[in-house]
Amino acid sequence: MKLTKKNLEERRDRVYDAIVIGGGAGGLSAGIYLQRYRLSSLIIDKGKARSFWMQELHNYLGLPPDTPGRVLLKRGEQHYESVNGDMLNGYVEEVVDEGETFAVRVKVGRQNSIYPIFRAKYIIAASGIIDNLVPLEDMRNVFEYAGYNLHVCMVCDGYEMADKQCGFFAGSEASIEEMVFNLSWFTPYITIFTHGLFEVSEPLRQKLREHGYRLVETPIKQFLGENHQMTGVELVDGTEIGLETGLISMGSTYHNTYLKNIPLEMKGGYLITDKMGRTSHPRIFAIGDLKVGLNQVVVAAGDGALAATQIWREIRHDRGPRRWEE
Ligand code: FAD
Ligand code: FAD
Repeated sequence: MKLTKKNLEERRDRVYDAIVIGGGAGGLSAGIYLQRYRLSSLIIDKGKARSFWMQELHNYLGLPPDTPGRVLLKRGEQHYESVNGDMLNGYVEEVVDEGETFAVRVKVGRQNSIYPIFRAKYIIAASGIIDNLVPLEDMRNVFEYAGYNLHVCMVCDGYEMADKQCGFFAGSEASIEEMVFNLSWFTPYITIFTHGLFEVSEPLRQKLREHGYRLVETPIKQFLGENHQMTGVELVDGTEIGLETGLISMGSTYHNTYLKNIPLEMKGGYLITDKMGRTSHPRIFAIGDLKVGLNQVVVAAGDGALAATQIWREIRHDRGPRRWEE
């Protein structure tokens, strides 16, 4: 059932088996498995994050590689609805561990917001991350190209960048060290832009020179191009540099603030889990981009299956086998 401001009272006293926070690829997959295991689940999703932003879904078996992320989401939602899962459009502000249950406080509605609380035995954190973009004065200029041929994910789109003139938009010296030499697997024609945000040390400059990579430290005024195809950048001094593609590597924002009062093992901003997706809290699972692993749709979908299966095993074990009663 789709929950709205009008009908959510009906679920006020329910304790769900699991609440899934985030309805992207991971959350929807978890929800479908939970419902098919005849567990009760609620997916709470604020909408419009990575799956939605993805213009073309590459590397996903069974779907054409030009499938937009929003098509995957639509199909996932329909599938979840067909097995009677509850879905709510809202922003999870906080999860409180009450012992046997968790209380999940949600902001519903942008205007005249209400703050209902839902309860569950298990939490599946599937709220993902979001990529930081090049901070220009006119962000609409960045949104025009980001996710098209101005990429944010090398694993997803390295193939599309092969042997092209590529701009690498770095957020730190570490991002250059970690990413640029790997990016050269796909293309060695790399121009690195620091946007004047940080200094580059002499040893790294030397290494970049040795590989023939270019370094541009003047801030960027705007991206050039049309119809979502970026063709270069204009710097603040008026210089124009032609490019065929780009990769932004400026870090991520992790959608995990609702867990801030529960101590969980982390690595950087990512949650550490076991192979079934369990975090250091026995009844909190984390799946997809939010956990340590490979940030790919196929992985998020697989994670959802594993987490839901583990939760089913535990609840089934607690209830014991059913009897044939006349
Ligand atoms: P998401 O899909 O990000 O879903 C998380 C959901 O949680 C979102 O809907 C978000 O709104 C919601 N949420 C967050 N915080 C809250 C909160 N507090 N309360 C309620 N809801 C919340 N992967 C591929 O495999 N192939 C590709 O070709 C590919 N291309 C990509 C292109 C782009 C431009 C981007 C940005 C990513 C791409 N990816 C690709 C990566 C892929 O999108 C992610 O790996 C995948 O979406 C992760 O799924 P997820 O369910 O973990 O997170
Ligand atoms: P497979 O798909 O089995 O592929 C292995 C391949 O290796 C085969 O083509 C085989 O011929 C080949 N092979 C084996 N040995 C050799 C050799 N020595 N040399 C060369 N080739 C070899 N899963 C779901 O997620 N949802 C479902 O609804 C579902 N329904 C199912 C219904 C049925 C009837 C069955 C049988 C399975 C179902 N499954 C379902 C499970 C699913 O099919 C498997 O989990 C999945 O196919 C595993 O993929 P795989 O690549 O590991 O193996």
